[in-house]
Amino acid sequence: MQVHILPALQDNYMYLIVDEATKEAAIVDPVAPETVVDAVKKHGVKLTMVLTTHHHWDHAGGNESIVKKVAGLEVCGGDDRMGALTRKVGHGDELKIGQLNIRCLFTPCHTSGHICYFVESPGDDPAVFTGDTLFVAGCGRFFEGSPDQMYKGLVETLGKLPDQTRVFCGHEYTVGNLKFARHVEPNNIDIEEKMSWAQNKRTKMEPTVPSTIGEEKRINPFMRVHESTVQQHAGQNEAIATMGFIRREKDSFKA
Ligand SMILES: [Zn+2]
Repeated sequence: MQVHILPALQDNYMYLIVDEATKEAAIVDPVAPETVVDAVKKHGVKLTMVLTTHHHWDHAGGNESIVKKVAGLEVCGGDDRMGALTRKVGHGDELKIGQLNIRCLFTPCHTSGHICYFVESPGDDPAVFTGDTLFVAGCGRFFEGSPDQMYKGLVETLGKLPDQTRVFCGHEYTVGNLKFARHVEPNNIDIEEKMSWAQNKRTKMEPTVPSTIGEEKRINPFMRVHESTVQQHAGQNEAIATMGFIRREKDSFKA
């Protein structure tokens, strides 16, 4: 499996996922369709599927346009508020791109129809495309859901994927997220090290994706709501109340 990172808008990422054996490809959140069409030509692949993480315009806003540019696309997503949807998917549904197997993971909270896509291919580390649910060192705002739902999404669904799973998220928010993570856990050395690495990457205008699920468990406060350090910071003694507290704190956090 190859994953081409395609920056779009201010800080969004689209991802072109290619099955090298068949040259079949899927695109995650094609908000900038011209960029996608150029990448498809450049890499000589056959685009057959759109994977939409959620209905917000900066993710789903290119769907109507890309189906006019590329014939025969299957447009997948978990929410009727998305344009050009041809296949509504739910938790556990499986899709195929050539020899790649894609499993849909329902992770409502940022929006009520949010889907993450877990992609496996023989001989490669798996990858998960997390939209605005899981970011590197952070998570999306709770626009249409509760701390309980984000806990289920991050800890019980995404947190159970193999540690080596590569995490490709919807936005370049890493440095800002790490500033908040450091505020929550000032003594976490993994956060410090990731911060130096990420700042260096951004100085060179390079993306900070992917991370891995194993790494997120060490640096992401929203995946660490079980840890006593995070609970103490929140003044709570259980994980879901801690999730609610740190999300509210992050919503108004000035780095
Ligand atoms: Zn969003």
